[in-house]
Amino acid sequence: MSAATIKAGLFDRVALIGVGLIGSSLARVLRRDSPQTQIVACARRAETLAAVRRLDLADETTDDPAAAVAGADLVVLATPLSAYAEIGRQIAPALREGAILTDVGSVKGAVIRDLAPLLPPRIHFVPGHPVAGTEHSGPEAGFADLFLDRWCILTPPRGTAPEAVAKITALWEGAGMRVVTMEAEHHDRVMAVTSHLPHLIAYTIVGTATELGQDLQSEVVLYSAGGFRDFTRIAASDPVMWRDIFLENREAVLELLQRFSEDLTALQRAIRRGDGETLHTWFTRTRAIRRSIIEAKQA
Ligand code: NAP
Repeated sequence: MSAATIKAGLFDRVALIGVGLIGSSLARVLRRDSPQTQIVACARRAETLAAVRRLDLADETTDDPAAAVAGADLVVLATPLSAYAEIGRQIAPALREGAILTDVGSVKGAVIRDLAPLLPPRIHFVPGHPVAGTEHSGPEAGFADLFLDRWCILTPPRGTAPEAVAKITALWEGAGMRVVTMEAEHHDRVMAVTSHLPHLIAYTIVGTATELGQDLQSEVVLYSAGGFRDFTRIAASDPVMWRDIFLENREAVLELLQRFSEDLTALQRAIRRGDGETLHTWFTRTRAIRRSIIEAKQA
């Protein structure tokens, strides 16, 4: 268990635009550590807002993003990426002077390009990505320990006020995360390797298996523990979120996919030629990566 907590009074009024897995998990941490912080939750659907009230994750709920951000000293965008631009247009005139706007989106370069020009001056924009998640969605799926011992990457544009970056750092550290700052484009290239390509591969494999004949398909389910099961968990991730990620991080993903296809072709050739040495060398090298993930406590 981590001893991290969000310092009471770090923020007085927090507007959460989007209260799904990530937004509701942050709400739970704020409720736990800083009960005096007022939380306003915003989502489109009445059933989402009803769940938020039932779970007592917010003091106020609304489907109007502009109303949600009025008076907030922190605004957290936690919706799918494709909703950002429209929400940005809606909230821009309503943001309080000096407010900090952050987000939790899985792609950063495109987000900053879309959102930054819409924001009024004297708003502090600190884009962020808590690298923590599950394949589940919605307010019921969240939990306060989601962020524990995971990394949070902040990508503040050049010139962002250091005090604003420090406050967002304190927020995520309070939630139990290790916080690091990097350029948005670098973030997107790193995520293409560690998250986006693995998801694309999982979506492909599970899709291929569903195209198989009826007999083989039922055996795929029965004997899934052979490796397939791990892919099905990843491929059960939210379709809207992942559609948006591939569209927004198109360049980095396509570049990596090119290299991946070349490597796949090399392995294909080794199998066809019965070249066991190439296969063995390759698999020995990849095994070491697993060890380093375990040593970094990210397993
Ligand atoms: P989620 O569970 O599907 O929640 C999305 C929330 O946004 C819901 O409350 C949804 O409620 C609301 N919403 C959607 N469109 C909206 C709009 N136009 N206006 C206001 N609210 C809207 O999604 P999530 O997994 O928390 O992901 C949210 C963000 O976090 C994404 O940008 C994703 O890239 C990022 N992220 C996700 C993970 C992960 O593993 N899941 C990890 C790190 C970062 P309604 O449908 O009722 O509007």
